[in-house]
Amino acid sequence: MKVKVVIIGCTHAGTSAAQQILKTHPATEVTIYERHDNISFLSCGISLYLGGTVKSLDDMFYATPQDLAQLGAHIYTQHDVYQLDVGKKQLLVENLITGRKFVDHYDKLVLATGSVPVIPPLQGVSLPNVLICKDYADATRIAASAQVKKHIAIIGGGYIGVELAESYSNTAHQVTLINGLHPLLSHYVDTDFAAQIATDLAAHGVELKLNETALKFDSDAQHVYIQTNKAEYQADLAVVCVGFRPQTDLVAGQLTLNQDGSLHVDRYMRTSDPAVFAAGDAVAVHYNPTQSDAYTPLATNAVRQGLLVGMNIFRSTLADIGTQATSALHLYGKTLASTGLTLARAQKHGFDAAVAKLTDNYRPEFMPTTTPIDMRLVYDRATHRILGGQLYSQYDIAQSANLLSVCIQNKNTIEQLAFVDMLFSPYYDRPLNYLNQLALTAVEQEATAKP
Ligand SMILES: Cc1cc2nc3c(=O)[nH]c(=O)nc-3n(C[C@H](O)[C@H](O)[C@H](O)COP(=O)(O)OP(=O)(O)OC[C@H]3O[C@@H](n4cnc5c(N)ncnc54)[C@H](O)[C@@H]3O)c2cc1C
Repeated sequence: MKVKVVIIGCTHAGTSAAQQILKTHPATEVTIYERHDNISFLSCGISLYLGGTVKSLDDMFYATPQDLAQLGAHIYTQHDVYQLDVGKKQLLVENLITGRKFVDHYDKLVLATGSVPVIPPLQGVSLPNVLICKDYADATRIAASAQVKKHIAIIGGGYIGVELAESYSNTAHQVTLINGLHPLLSHYVDTDFAAQIATDLAAHGVELKLNETALKFDSDAQHVYIQTNKAEYQADLAVVCVGFRPQTDLVAGQLTLNQDGSLHVDRYMRTSDPAVFAAGDAVAVHYNPTQSDAYTPLATNAVRQGLLVGMNIFRSTLADIGTQATSALHLYGKTLASTGLTLARAQKHGFDAAVAKLTDNYRPEFMPTTTPIDMRLVYDRATHRILGGQLYSQYDIAQSANLLSVCIQNKNTIEQLAFVDMLFSPYYDRPLNYLNQLALTAVEQEATAKP
């Protein structure tokens, strides 16, 4: 008899798990339930579409239900799993088109239920001209409103808020960015870098309201009014993007959850129930810089964890090696890339951390052109281990953040990065690559530092 695997949720973690299960174990009976009428939507497409980089939101899917059906999956979109009993291996499902409810069972279950936007409990947050930004339905609402709304207020200065601010400001919208509790992009960069990013946003017309917290929304037929702890602002539309929380209500009280509600999984993506695996935004990742669980909802983690579910579902084959939450964003022709811990977060985690700073041209000045790169390397003064890095430049430094990610993964020290072999060609870099040079700055800083 075929083993039956049920997958709940089919964006990145669910799609990747389904593809891998059917690739490595084609005899498996795979049933997928997805609430939406689509699968695999890349949310990064929202700002790309708003900014005109991609022409259609429909280009932002990389798999269709038909693709998974062709691989052999039974896929049910617009089906909501509204109850789960892991003891009985039983789920209750509602067909959202017909309203029919039915029971299904599994031998093994994959939870790929992802995350939902944090919606602060503020008066007026569900008004029609207050939007959130996550899935395809949100994307179509945001895209349609951009045609008619001129003044956009963005609540939240994480990477989604900043990306939206860039896209709106590049397309003749008036933009107000309100960011309260934490500094701009505080998960990714330290405050001096955040100040540079704020300068770039302001230079492109984004009105920044920093250290301000939205308290309530009001609206009339045309406008939305945002009351903060300091002032009231009028806009045509507000977009709230203040973070995500794991969607794990189905298993609350049944499986081990972390304090933030994310699922705890082991290195083989197993939850506390041996028949239940999980991947993606519903799950806490193993975060290498601190060697602990952390909630870092990223598509990169979701796809990798989905693959691991597929590889490990019948036999523990390949263990997860954890993550550094490496990310990049594009801002007015510059690339901001970061990996691992910022200095502030490293210190918060108890490290005796320091940061080396360097601004240097990526290649020699005798070449026809060159471009400066602003760099930060965060390291542990006790062990000299690299904990994080940040790069900001008009030069495309995205892959250098990936290299720093590998260094953190491998527990490399600042000395090892300073002397690791990297190519030299004046087309690409100097005899010492800019990352060698950045790490050398850290080495010299430590050599001259008072104990
Ligand atoms: C605007 C934006 C830009 C982003 N840009 C990037 C980026 O550039 N790089 C990056 O790495 N990450 C990015 N992310 C993050 C990335 O989108 C998420 O990490 C990723 O979507 C997580 O995938 P997932 O499959 O785990 O969960 P989700 O995308 O949350 O999908 C979960 C799915 O499960 C379904 N589901 C949940 N519960 C049920 C149920 N009970 N029954 C049926 N179906 C259910 C949901 O309908 C949903 O489709 C971005 C996110 C946003 C919002």
